[in-house]
Amino acid sequence: MQFKVGIGYDIHRLIAGRPLFLGAVEIPYIKGLLGHSDGDALIHAVCDALLGALALGDIGEHFPDTDPQYQGIASSKLLVKVKGLVDKSGYQINNLDVVIITQEPKLVPFKQQMKENIASLLGIAQEVVNIKAKTNEGLDAVGNREAIACYAAASLVKGTPR
Ligand code: MG
Repeated sequence: MQFKVGIGYDIHRLIAGRPLFLGAVEIPYIKGLLGHSDGDALIHAVCDALLGALALGDIGEHFPDTDPQYQGIASSKLLVKVKGLVDKSGYQINNLDVVIITQEPKLVPFKQQMKENIASLLGIAQEVVNIKAKTNEGLDAVGNREAIACYAAASLVKGTPR
């Protein structure tokens, strides 16, 4: 079986006066993620995991933050573009696993919607997408509520989707 694996990581600062988007879900909170786009660190990590598996560089090369066309863009649109690259490769997404690290807010009520959004944007079954959330135990910038970090891992297989 022909098999590819990629990892992705992203971190964005939390600042007042911005909406908080994670996994294309708007989450009620006193702060949001700073970014050239909507700051959706979860989607950015997923994009990088998929680009990594395809050996196609990183999200910054594909969607430079110096390019005005990406100013304020919904990250879901970037993910759909990356999905196009996956489709072109002849590989299919076998599974996708995500870790969100944030001290606040609690994400349990939103994880299912994130999973549905990511599966829907990528045209894959929800059963192959997993979203995990944890705190940073109060340590460092993430633990101090100054940032949210995300990791993602993706595996791709050649052939038909599950
Ligand atoms: Mg980012």
